[in-house]
Amino acid sequence: MKRWTGAVMAILLSGVSIMFSGCDVGDVKQPEWLQQELCDHVFEEEVVREPTCKQAGSTLKTCALCGLEKTVRVPAKGHNVAAIEGVAPTCETDGWTAGSYCTVCEIVLVEPTLIPASGHVDGFGNDCVVCGERIWTDIY
Ligand SMILES: [Zn+2]
Ligand SMILES: [Zn+2]
Ligand SMILES: [Zn+2]
Repeated sequence: MKRWTGAVMAILLSGVSIMFSGCDVGDVKQPEWLQQELCDHVFEEEVVREPTCKQAGSTLKTCALCGLEKTVRVPAKGHNVAAIEGVAPTCETDGWTAGSYCTVCEIVLVEPTLIPASGHVDGFGNDCVVCGERIWTDIY
């Protein structure tokens, strides 16, 4: 009687250790939750929605071994900012301030502001004190 109990215990214990070692136990089907619990997940990724500059995307990860599925949020990429170079105004031509735009969605993020031409500055002579151009010759 005592020996018999011992044998049953041994079988039970070996069964339990097999269950928790995650070994392939042949035809014995493990419950799905346990299979997923013990699995060394090998995820295959599938893009559900590509992230854009402003919107988050998502990727579906499916374990090739146990079939566990996870949806992972992919954060928005943010704008790919490129500078719009500013141009200094001269006496006769307008300039603009520096700005920036996104190269991906091609929208202006910081709109350059127009800087109007400053106009020639009259010095004591006939020449503009800024650009040196002769201002009054044509008039007289
Ligand atoms: Zn898995
Ligand atoms: Zn963008
Ligand atoms: Zn000038």
